Amino acid sequence: MALKDKVVVIMGASSGIGEATANLLAKSGAKLTIAARRMNRLEKIVQNNSEAEILPVAADVAKAEEVQNVIDKTVEKYGRVDVLFNNAGIMPVNNLAAIARDEWQNIMDINVKGVLNGIASVLPVMKKQQSGHIITTSSVLGYEVLPGYAAYSGSKYAVRAIMEGLRQEERTSNIKTTVIAPGTVQTELFNSINNQEIKEQLESLKNLPGADMQVLQPEEISEAVAFVINTPKNMAVNEMVIQSTGQE
Ligand code: NDP
Repeated sequence: MALKDKVVVIMGASSGIGEATANLLAKSGAKLTIAARRMNRLEKIVQNNSEAEILPVAADVAKAEEVQNVIDKTVEKYGRVDVLFNNAGIMPVNNLAAIARDEWQNIMDINVKGVLNGIASVLPVMKKQQSGHIITTSSVLGYEVLPGYAAYSGSKYAVRAIMEGLRQEERTSNIKTTVIAPGTVQTELFNSINNQEIKEQLESLKNLPGADMQVLQPEEISEAVAFVINTPKNMAVNEMVIQSTGQE
């Protein structure tokens, strides 16, 4: 089965990488469930892709029952789940000395527990189907740590570990796993940063050397997601690092 008619659930679909992926997959004929907290943004995506079959569901990934509801509604509507794209995430980065306990809590609840909630809800469905594909967005910061990024990097290292555990446990259930690890992508992710110095550093990344080396756009990451979904049954792309040619 190519992209057409694949049932794909996208968590964190209301903006950035999730929204771009929803738009691309909708145009490719996939059947989608799109989830996030901002229902108005999800409804706009449905309106913009009126030819496609898209179910919008409001959900906070930190809440297990809301994630379960997304999967239940998908199975109710389409009868199966071929792909779960665990993409919801936040990045309120800060130095550890800022003791930003609320930021740490939210990072772990959304970036880590949110991914586990997705896996917990979809795994029984995929095991019953004896097929499925779980894709999770980590980051280049899931491979290296920079000052200010300790908690965020911790969450992105954690999801790589969780996905590798999932791969090993489920490799005989015909369930594929993929970690997508983008470098800097132009999205709304940076809006939640309270540390002004880090915010300004990130702004400067928009001006990488060379006009063809700008930070990536979410549409470019969505092409990679479509590619991994489209791989043959016996082939899994387990990890994919995608960054601008000009990124440090
Ligand atoms: P955006 O801020 O544009 O998108 C984040 C998405 O996550 C939104 O749809 C948002 O929806 C959703 N989200 C956040 N919190 C929750 C929650 N509690 N429950 C449900 N959905 C939630 O940023 P990106 O597109 O850049 O981010 C997507 C992923 O990519 C994240 O995991 C991020 O860490 C990762 N990433 C991004 C990079 C970048 O440079 N942009 C680089 C590397 C990784 P809503 O607010 O409506 O709930």
